[in-house]
Amino acid sequence: MTDVLAPTALDLARLEFRDELLASGLLVGTSVPGIYGRSGDFERVIAGLDRILGEAFAALDATVLRFPPVYPRADFERTDYIASFPDLSGIVSSFEDGDREHRELLAAREEGRAYEGWLKPADVVLTNAICHPLYATLEGTLPSGGGTYDLSGYGFRHEPSFDPMRLQSFRMREFVFVGTPDAAQLYRDTWLDTSVALLASLGLAVQAVPANDPFFGRAGKMLVSAQLRENLKVEIIVPLYGDLHEGTAIASANCQRDHLTHAFDIRTTDGEVAHGACVAFGMERTVLALVRTHGTDLEAWPVDVRALLGL
Ligand code: AMP
Ligand code: ZN
Repeated sequence: MTDVLAPTALDLARLEFRDELLASGLLVGTSVPGIYGRSGDFERVIAGLDRILGEAFAALDATVLRFPPVYPRADFERTDYIASFPDLSGIVSSFEDGDREHRELLAAREEGRAYEGWLKPADVVLTNAICHPLYATLEGTLPSGGGTYDLSGYGFRHEPSFDPMRLQSFRMREFVFVGTPDAAQLYRDTWLDTSVALLASLGLAVQAVPANDPFFGRAGKMLVSAQLRENLKVEIIVPLYGDLHEGTAIASANCQRDHLTHAFDIRTTDGEVAHGACVAFGMERTVLALVRTHGTDLEAWPVDVRALLGL
């Protein structure tokens, strides 16, 4: 009989990488898995990556928009995130009552009892996908030719893990197109190729593979098979642990079809519901893949990679 709790060789490889990152100071651990501080060196690579992404997508002449890491709960309700990914979501709660209830809360806390019952959901939720706040602002008719947007910000996904590539709070840079169905499909395919080439130029052994989102539960299985069958999601993966694992996604290129545009009633000039497409880069994941590939000492990275990143 095998012990179900015994770590696999892959678990051990991930733990070893995590230890290496903590020992080098690139990541600073906290008491919660998937929440780390990052060093100055780590941020220098993030900044270089951010810059070259902007340059690679400059031809889009995209509208630059930045949103905070929370957005209105009313907009979250218009997406079906809580149906598809209840386990990943993060609802903010706060205290809204008076002195009496506050005293009750403090008394419970003093006794070591749970006091969440005195908190209520606030009017914001943590942003899970940084394009959701954008879609929420686009209700109505798009300009002719559609819209192209350059987004960057923190996303939250409640997926605590000892795998240093699986964070709970991480940055994404996204280039989003909203327009006609054909233009959205063409956008996804074209910019996927650009993205693969850019990441390969950093010395990463990237590969583009069909993928699916981790839809929750029994109903989610149908969404997974539709996503794969219709090739709606492609991930750019990098192998990090030799033969132990096929690779970890550092970016994705997605056809959202009318999924969010329908929810937010976004239309093209011909009155039809628009289609959305996005290319999303995981900033920390990409830096970590670079560290895994080139080592924890940035000074020792290949000269061309250092030059590209401005290190
Ligand atoms: P997605 O919207 O799920 O395709 O995510 C876009 C990108 O964000 C992925 O390709 C990853 O690079 C990154 N990402 C997603 N989830 C996580 C996570 N838990 N930790 C770190 N990066 C993530
Ligand atoms: Zn997106």
